[in-house]
Amino acid sequence: MTLISIQGVTRLYEDAQRGTAVKALDNVSVTVQRNDFLCLLGPSGCGKSTLLNMIAGFDRPTSGLVCVGGRPVQAPGVDRGVVFQQPTLMPWLPVWENVALHLRMRRFSKTQRRKQAQPYIDMVGLRGFENHYPSELSGGMNQRVGIARALLMNPEVILMDEPFGALDEQTRTDMHAELERIWRESRSTIVFVTHGIEEALSLGTHIAVMSARPGRIRELIKVDLPRPRDTTSPQFNDYKRRILGLLRPEEPAPA
Ligand code: ADP
Repeated sequence: MTLISIQGVTRLYEDAQRGTAVKALDNVSVTVQRNDFLCLLGPSGCGKSTLLNMIAGFDRPTSGLVCVGGRPVQAPGVDRGVVFQQPTLMPWLPVWENVALHLRMRRFSKTQRRKQAQPYIDMVGLRGFENHYPSELSGGMNQRVGIARALLMNPEVILMDEPFGALDEQTRTDMHAELERIWRESRSTIVFVTHGIEEALSLGTHIAVMSARPGRIRELIKVDLPRPRDTTSPQFNDYKRRILGLLRPEEPAPA
């Protein structure tokens, strides 16, 4: 079942000072089915975050349509959980309160917040750290808090913008395994922004390979590899080669 539909989306950013416009996205169309794990892959500046922000409702297309659950996106909503590169935690609140932040804003009682936070703390592997503060945790653990917070709202879709970009390679690899497990257990639908080919191939059921500005989808690839993904297998490398070919700048037409 189609959960997200992006139809002919173009986004122009006006540069009032210079009197010019930047075309961040050019006629992008893609659909995401329920339980898909779509990676948006492309070089820096190709419009990945712009596209994610439109699904989140933080931004609007200049033309075209973005629908989630059959309804045009007008604003952010609890049906879409967002995880950023920096987990934006409240440093004065312990882990469990950070996980339950949305419930705090909606004036749930302390007992309710504590109770509802626990299954998600368990799910991201933070049992035993409920009363720690963000400054006492590693980068990877803080990112888990951000993921648990997004999951707690039981959103239709989780939107992730380079969530592991600031982590060291080993922690990132561990987080990939963890996220894959969470995706499977929570049966969620994920849209994940990355510029890492291996990251996209380790996680995605599909990869939308984007071209440099103006951002377009060069190809939507369905990743038919067994999980957990073996990054050293010949099949993995076949996909990698194909994506590298797509990411190579297009040759200028002969004069
Ligand atoms: P990516 O996530 O792929 O790195 P972005 O979506 O952040 O790319 O940006 C795409 C393009 O749009 C870039 O050239 C960027 O400079 C431009 N852009 C993004 N946001 C704005 C903005 N608020 N105002 C002007 N230009 C912007």
